[in-house]
Order: sequence, then structure tokens, then C-alpha cells
Amino acid sequence: MHRPFPFQTPPDAAARRAVAPVICYPTETLPAPDSATYARARQSARKIGSVTVPAREGRAFRVPAGGFFRISCTEGPQVGDLNLFSAEDPRERFYSGKTRALHGTHLGVGDRMWSVFPWLRPMATLVADTLGWYGVDAFGGRVHDVIGTRCDPYTHWLLSGGGQYHHCCHSNLTRALSDAGVEGAEALVHDVLNVFMCTGFTADTGQYFMKASPVRPGDYLEFFAEIELLGVLSACPGGDCSAEHSSDTAACHPLEVEIWETPAEALAGWAPPRPNGYDGTHGR
Ligand SMILES: [Zn+2]
Repeated sequence: MHRPFPFQTPPDAAARRAVAPVICYPTETLPAPDSATYARARQSARKIGSVTVPAREGRAFRVPAGGFFRISCTEGPQVGDLNLFSAEDPRERFYSGKTRALHGTHLGVGDRMWSVFPWLRPMATLVADTLGWYGVDAFGGRVHDVIGTRCDPYTHWLLSGGGQYHHCCHSNLTRALSDAGVEGAEALVHDVLNVFMCTGFTADTGQYFMKASPVRPGDYLEFFAEIELLGVLSACPGGDCSAEHSSDTAACHPLEVEIWETPAEALAGWAPPRPNGYDGTHGR
């Protein structure tokens, strides 16, 4: 919200605004994705399972380190809210904010999903995206954002004047994680990768916007699992997110998750990234 500012504009305002930006986190020194290994692994990977995520529900899935998982649109335009955890320790989970700071507001092929402190390492690398052609539209919209949080019943309660709705992504992810045997699931659910969602910020007010997803049946997003993963995916009650979420009014569709494992010989010379090397003393 921009209100009239009560102070005078300084005489050098134009000069201050004209200062060129610098990238906060130049990524040239990040460990590069090992695309040769991904290509070799993909050729010999074998499918070990699949999970259908019903509309307005969440489901969990596991992916071995060095394997792949693919999220597909199968029946109609639908966005998915993805959480990732280390299968060994669910306290290590996806860090949307740092991933955004490193790779930008929306993810594309070659970008990583990074874990929280103190691990801060790649959990998964995006290796294929059939919506890669979308780029940026005339409204500034792009697909697969790491800026949204996840639709949730608390914000819905605030904005609707006391409404109770139980199939927001936050609740779907909480139930799915709990069903996977993780205790204290709600506190571990975190800000998501918005799979297939088309979003941006309005140029005038800077507000977060969404628009109908360009995803169609047959489209998919595929990842290489850098560590052994427990994933949970919610088929958002917003459907293609063209109008609203937090209700049962939008047309919703299931999503499919397929999982592959890679034989050890195809991973020769590769190892999961080690946890972050900072000594953790914080100068004390
Ligand atoms: Zn949602």
C-alpha cells in the first residue's frame, strides 16, 4: 500500500533512483549442476512407482538419492504445491526464500531446490520442464514460483470473516505428511514450489498475482533427487488458479507423481552433496 509521503522529495532523487542494481547473490561460484551425470543416470533409470494425488488432496512419495521424480498434469489444468524433506531427517526441508534469492522468483531447468540452515544444500535439481517455452508474459507472469507460500486455512479465516475450509494446500500437505508417519507434521510444512502456477507481481501496486496456468495434460516437471527425499504434493483447491482458492468452486484435477531409481553403476563418480560446511559457531 503506497500512501502520499509527507516529506519533500530530495533534489537528487532522480540520481539516487538511477543507481544500477547489482545481483544480491551472483551464482557463478555455486557448485554447478552435474548435467552429464543426470543424462547418464536418466538413460538407465527404472521406474519404481507412481502416486496419484487426487484433486484437493495431498499425497506423499519417496525418491532414492540419485533417482528422479516427475510431476505430471494428466486430466486438466491444475497447479501443485510441493514440499520436500530429507527422508532421513524431516527437519531438513526446502527453503523457498533462499532458493528465490539464489535463482530468482520462478524456477527453470538447472535450478536447485535448496534446504534450510544448517544444511543449505541442493535437495533436487530441475532437469526437464515442458513449460520452459512460457518465459515471461506481458503481465510479468512466469511459471513455477517460489514466491507464494501455500493457500492455508488461517489466511482464509482472516479474509473470509471466519470461514472454515479444510482442503487448502497447507492442510492437504499436513495430512499427507502425517499419513507418511512424520510427527508434528503441521510445524514442518513449509513454503512451497508452486508447480505449474503462473504468477508475478503487479507493476503498479507490487501485489502478488496469479492467472490461469498454461499447463495442459501431458505437461510435466522432472527433478533429479540429490539426496533421499520425502516429498508431499497437494493438488491445490484453486485448480488452474484462474479465479480463487480456499473453496470447492474451482474445477480441480488430479496430479501424477512418477518415481525412478538409478542403478549404482550409472551414478559412478557422483555422491549426494554434503551438508553445508559452515562451522556453526557464529563467532562464539
Ligand atoms: Zn493451494
